[in-house]
Amino acid sequence: MKVFVGCDLGGTNIKAGLVNVEDGLVLVSNSIPTLARQGPEAVLERMAKLIVDLINESQIEKKQIGGLGISAPGMIDLEKNETLFLPNLYSEWRNIPVGERMKSYLGLDVAMLNDVRAITFGEWAFGAGKGADSMACFAIGTGVGGGLIVNNQLVLGFGGTAGELGHQTVDVNGPLCGCGNYGCIEVFSSGPAIAAEAGRGIRQGWSTKIVELIDHDLNQLTPEIVSKAAQMGDKLALEVWNRAGTYLGIGVANILTCVGVKRVVIAGGVAKAGDLLLDPIKREVKQRVFLMPVEEVEIVNAKLGNDAGTVGMAAWSAIQKGLKIGN
Ligand SMILES: [Zn+2]
Repeated sequence: MKVFVGCDLGGTNIKAGLVNVEDGLVLVSNSIPTLARQGPEAVLERMAKLIVDLINESQIEKKQIGGLGISAPGMIDLEKNETLFLPNLYSEWRNIPVGERMKSYLGLDVAMLNDVRAITFGEWAFGAGKGADSMACFAIGTGVGGGLIVNNQLVLGFGGTAGELGHQTVDVNGPLCGCGNYGCIEVFSSGPAIAAEAGRGIRQGWSTKIVELIDHDLNQLTPEIVSKAAQMGDKLALEVWNRAGTYLGIGVANILTCVGVKRVVIAGGVAKAGDLLLDPIKREVKQRVFLMPVEEVEIVNAKLGNDAGTVGMAAWSAIQKGLKIGN
């Protein structure tokens, strides 16, 4: 058994787990609130304690642990293992030497990645991407993140910035996105975008079951509710999913034409909608991709759920130590 630690620093929670990187199984894991308002130093101290407690709980000797991988939601200097800009964390974490701090606390070598690249790597190594030499991952939640594996390697690109698949322009006249561009996939297909589109339909007077499901309170509108209504055959809800899936499908088609991946993995909380999202994606792909064998491409839901980031970071940390992971 080869054990590495994977850790995901999120805006709300810090998750960590000890992972057997031979089979991707999580041995022990736990999650604590990030409490980002306490500042980076306090957050990193608590992250170290979380990991120490997990190691103690696992009864695995520390010297048997090969390394630590940490993911974070934003831009990271992959050489120095410093956060450069985490827009969703209080104080934005500019130039915080996460790797150096955690090494001094734990004595483990640290590797870092952006959070969705970690999910991508985890799904490829041990989840829905297993066995595919090239894969694209779209993670749909509050935003739309992404990651790419080409020829059995995670694509990092210039400064680790490759893979922002959710910020491709899919409508030149589209609305402003949080990233500064207009008409990104994210403004059409993220969780908040789906809820907002359903809300717009309700305000326009569509007759829809959603109104009862949310007890006439638009604040209760979530993608899960829209999904529930769609499963009941509700016209507005079906239209909302069709729209979100269509824009995603345009983005998936672009990736297939540009990068030629064998498998596309749809991850994140919104992906729980399943075929409501997958069907329009597959339809768009069929209509738009002609220069690669599109009938052999598999478009599937992710498999690892909330563990994907932890497993991915443990596996990424193992690769930095020269271990062979995945295909
Ligand atoms: Zn954008």
